[in-house]
Amino acid sequence: MSSIPCPKCNATIEFDLKDILTTKEFTCSQCHTKIALQYKDNKETFQNATEKLNQLKKDLGIN
Ligand SMILES: [Zn+2]
Repeated sequence: MSSIPCPKCNATIEFDLKDILTTKEFTCSQCHTKIALQYKDNKETFQNATEKLNQLKKDLGIN
């Protein structure tokens, strides 16, 4: 699991790295704000997630 802070209430929003492949929007469990995971807004998070995802893919033997 990875997490990003909610821009509205600052709660931690957890998401599965695999979700990035299919989902671009996450909902805060505290205030129910929908957060779109956008590269320009979450560059560091996105890069981190991408690196982990690539490692995961490597571990699973998929490209
Ligand atoms: Zn929130």
